[in-house]
Parts: sequence; C-alpha cells; structure tokens
Amino acid sequence: MKSFNISIEHNCPQCGAPASLEETDRLFACPFCRVKSFLPENGYFRYILPCPDSARNPDVYFPYWRFKGTLFSSNSSETVFRFIDISHQGRESGIFPVSLGFRTQALKLKFALPETAGLFIKPELTPGDIVRIAEKRFSDKGAGGPFIQSFMGETTSIIYSPFYVKEKLWDAVINKPVSSLLPGDFDLNIFGTGKPDWTIDFIPAICPTCGWDLSGERDSLVLFCKNCDSAWQPDGKKFGKIKFGYIPESGEDFLFLPFWHIKASISGITLDSYADLIKIANLPKIIRDGWEKISFKFWIPAFKVRAQHYIRLATHMTLAQPDNEIKEQVPAGRMHPVNLPFAEAIESFKTIIAGFIKPRKDYFSLLPDVQITPEDFILAYVPFEDGHHDLIQQEYQVALNKALLATAGNL
Ligand SMILES: [Zn+2]
Ligand SMILES: [Zn+2]
Repeated sequence: MKSFNISIEHNCPQCGAPASLEETDRLFACPFCRVKSFLPENGYFRYILPCPDSARNPDVYFPYWRFKGTLFSSNSSETVFRFIDISHQGRESGIFPVSLGFRTQALKLKFALPETAGLFIKPELTPGDIVRIAEKRFSDKGAGGPFIQSFMGETTSIIYSPFYVKEKLWDAVINKPVSSLLPGDFDLNIFGTGKPDWTIDFIPAICPTCGWDLSGERDSLVLFCKNCDSAWQPDGKKFGKIKFGYIPESGEDFLFLPFWHIKASISGITLDSYADLIKIANLPKIIRDGWEKISFKFWIPAFKVRAQHYIRLATHMTLAQPDNEIKEQVPAGRMHPVNLPFAEAIESFKTIIAGFIKPRKDYFSLLPDVQITPEDFILAYVPFEDGHHDLIQQEYQVALNKALLATAGNL
C-alpha cells in the first residue's frame, strides 16, 4: 500500500496569510510574518474535502475515519509488518460510499471548524471501531499458537466529504450520483447532524521559561530552546518540559538521532536488570557482579523509519544498553526531528522483546500475558557518523541507510 500525506489549506494564525500545511506539519513558520507557531494534536484532526465547484453549496458533509499506521504481528517464529492507509464510513449507511477511495490524494483539505458552513452528519463509530475493522481486514492471525499484535505510527483523523441530493445522492467531489433513485420523502435529517465541536489552537513557539524562539523542523513533536537548554512538547494547549540530553560527541560529521530511553516495570517475564537481559537474550557474556543492579531500559527510535528498520534499531540499541553519560544540553551538531511520539513508541515494547528473546520458540508463549508499564523516560540523542550512504553508530555497531530516513516523512 502506498502512503501519502494530506495537504491542508489554512491561514497563518498570526497574520492571516494563506498557507499550505502537510498533515504531519506541527511547527509552522509563516513566510510572511515570520512568526513560528506550533499545532498540537488535540485528539484527532478533522478535515473537510472542499467542493471543487465553489459555486455549489453541498447539502451535507458525511464523515469518514481515516486511519494510517503499521500493523505489527509476531508469532513464535517471526514478526511481519503491514502498512495500512484506509478510510471508512464514520457511521454505517447504505446510501453513502463505504470509503473515500483516492479522492483525498488529489485535493487540498481544510480544517472542519465550528464556523464552517454546511450540515455535518455526526460520526457514530469510534476510532477504536475503525482499528478493529482494520485489524480484522489485515490481521495475519490464523497460523495458530500465541500471537501478539499492535498498531504503530498511527494517524487517525476524520474527513468530511460533501454530497448533495437531486433525486439521487450525488458526490459533490466527483459530481456524480452514488445512489439509486431516492424516495420522494428522503430526508437527510434522519442522520444525526451537528457542527464540528472542535477548534484549531496554535501555540506560539516560544520557550515558556526564557522567552527565546523554540527550534525544530516542520514535523517536530518536540521543540528545543537553545538559550536555556530545554525541550518541550505539547501538553494540551501549552508546552510541557521533558527530560532530554545527548551522548557527547563533537564534530561536523555527526547527525544526532533521537531515542526514547525508557525504564518500565515488566511483569510476566523476568527482565528487570542487565543481568536478566543477558539471560533472556542468551548473550555470549559472563554476568559480572553488580549487573543485576543495573536497570534494564528500552532504547526506541523517536523518529519514523520503515517498520522493519524501526524494530531492528530498537532491538539492537536495547540489546546494547548504552551506559554513556547523557549530557542535559542541546547538542551543538545537527539533530534529526522527533516525529514519533512516546505514546506510539511504547506500542512496540513486546515486538522488541520478541526480537531478542532466545530461544524465541521457548519464551514467545509468555509474551501475550506480559504487562509492561513505562515508569520514567528521557529523550536521548545518539550520535551517528554521517557516511556516504549510511549513518553509522560505531560504538554500538549499528547503521541506517540514509535514503530510508529521507523517505520516512509520510509513513
Ligand atoms: Zn503570518
Ligand atoms: Zn528557554
């Protein structure tokens, strides 16, 4: 399945100049007034597909859930990944089309706001219902035996599509009828309707502590203040501070990649310390005194990259358990943006463990019942040497092809 990003037309919250945003954009720098604003994801985004014929007012907007993410399925011998990008009716109806098809790829969307003109049908299905529909449709279950599955990197949004009634139901985007002849007394009010009860609230991208401009890329979920060395992520309609730092390395040849470095409480399997990791992963190392006192921690990429490489990096770094000093400063070198949130990263806990337990077939049956609860985390930047084709972490012997990182933006 090919992935794509939605484009949205919106006006600069500061000066009102027209702007175009990508679905994944969070830090918006206005080319006119130069003010930087941050767009937090407040629940899920709601969009409308505009009528191509602006003279025609659609009679009604029908809601579709859009769901994009990677489904991870593991069994005792392997993990498979499946990228999913689907849309589905937000409310069951035999009259409206079941999905949006491909129309969102060709058109610029707008945010659906309380002031948007038109009649809006309310969705009845929840995002959870759509996940279950997607899981049912794409699940690789059925091989038998224990099984773990999770969705990651998911984007869930509502897209309202315009329709009008003229003997039949007409799709206002393609301007074609989509139903058979409707009864003369057909009334759109049989569907529950109401305005989108949702607003867009940009946050000024200014350090709450010192007032300095925060820095980041357009898809950054975490912004940095280089003046007071702090890191910020949205917390409702304001910024909240998070713990961060970097493994020291200097020089122009390095790119710092962000990882969620997480201490979690794990039950159902013994994995509390470095010594436990050596046992459960069957590492060719002799356990030294004191290793049972070193806490086991996950190292999970805080950036998007294709699923199998994401899990490979997470598994490798988690097995390596880097114990370097983490300096609580913004590194002087180049930093890759955090574009995969903590809440998504922790969805991969069990898949990572499945990647290093040995023998897998003996331990795997324990995994479905394992409980993992994050307790504490820090955003840690790890230096990778910027080679010709690859980014290379010498100390921990792991590499990532640069082309994979460059094409990861719309995953
Ligand atoms: Zn502006
Ligand atoms: Zn500051």
